[in-house]
Amino acid sequence: MTVPIAKLSFWGVRGSTPTVDPATWRYGGNTPCLELIAPDGTQIILDCGTGLRMLGSRWAAPNGGKTPETHILVTHYHWDHIQGIPFFSPLYVENNEFHFYSFRSKFLGRDSLKQVFEAQMALPYFPVDMSAMSAKRKFKEVDGGESFTVGENNIAARWLNHPQGCLGFRIETPAGIVAYATDNEPGDAKLDESLRELAAGADIFINDAQFTPEQLETTRKGWGHSSWLEGAKVARQAGAKTLVLFHHDPDSTDRMVDSILRQAREEFDSVFAASEGMVVTLGAPGDRVQAHMPGTRTALRREAQFQAKVCGVTEGGKDFEEETVVRDISLQGALISLKHMPRLQSELQVTMEAPGADGVQSMNLRGYVVRIDAGAEKGHVAVGVVFTD
Ligand SMILES: [Zn+2]
Ligand SMILES: [Zn+2]
Repeated sequence: MTVPIAKLSFWGVRGSTPTVDPATWRYGGNTPCLELIAPDGTQIILDCGTGLRMLGSRWAAPNGGKTPETHILVTHYHWDHIQGIPFFSPLYVENNEFHFYSFRSKFLGRDSLKQVFEAQMALPYFPVDMSAMSAKRKFKEVDGGESFTVGENNIAARWLNHPQGCLGFRIETPAGIVAYATDNEPGDAKLDESLRELAAGADIFINDAQFTPEQLETTRKGWGHSSWLEGAKVARQAGAKTLVLFHHDPDSTDRMVDSILRQAREEFDSVFAASEGMVVTLGAPGDRVQAHMPGTRTALRREAQFQAKVCGVTEGGKDFEEETVVRDISLQGALISLKHMPRLQSELQVTMEAPGADGVQSMNLRGYVVRIDAGAEKGHVAVGVVFTD
């Protein structure tokens, strides 16, 4: 029997507005867009932020492609969740079919999402109008509390606490459960309970982590967002397995997100900070949630050979130190061949000898283990590490 596997790709992880500041490159600057490929081949897109353009530019027809059909869940109508729509090239291809799901906004009335499409492409905001979009588009209204089925996957929608409303989605696939709860603020008892319902026992719980706990209590109270600390609390209460910190503030540099991630990892065992290009696999052999950081940014990847010393903790809880060669390194992380099997999510110290302007320099990097695969060499494992500062 083959094991059902689902693949969750992060195309945009930034909240509020895109960023192009180099200090935010590592986590990425595109606004929310996720893609889930369920074991039955169903393609589900979550939100249409600017990350959607990137997804469109690497478009592969779902189901191997006869009548490519894609399901797009839109959480709400704030700019950062819809702005990618006019730039999504598959919408301009006749053979494609899209099913959009979103709620009826009291500010827009019937066919809210359809109106959002038209408004974004109205003159003088966009050079061509809706008639240029030749793909089939179907719109379905979803209310908080509703559930529906797409392929063999069950999807539940719940209201979240956010100005003008926002839906959270829980997607149950045969490979595992993904709960997507962007844009929400704690403090409304009923909606806090909805959030816990979405996250209950989820393999992946993606939660708004835009603000620090201090900001959330003071200057940013009432802005509709959450913090890593609230995410960790809900993950614990709801028995979620892995927490993904999401919707990073546009003013948060990579170093700030690193520090948020470090604090969250002290509160909860399994935490990732969402980063653009991250792919999480559910239902992989061994029943572990694994992530890897391939290249949406392959240009920043270096084919190299660095002598390295790696220190960490093994699966069995023992400290180890090992000399190795790092061959695959990017801005975000590295793939390291090791004889030791480090624990998933544990921290690694990687000291590399790198050629610099004044001869060979020693570089100290801190990272954590997000993936473990069989190694190319016998007796080795390939360890995927994400760097933090
Ligand atoms: Zn947002
Ligand atoms: Zn919002």
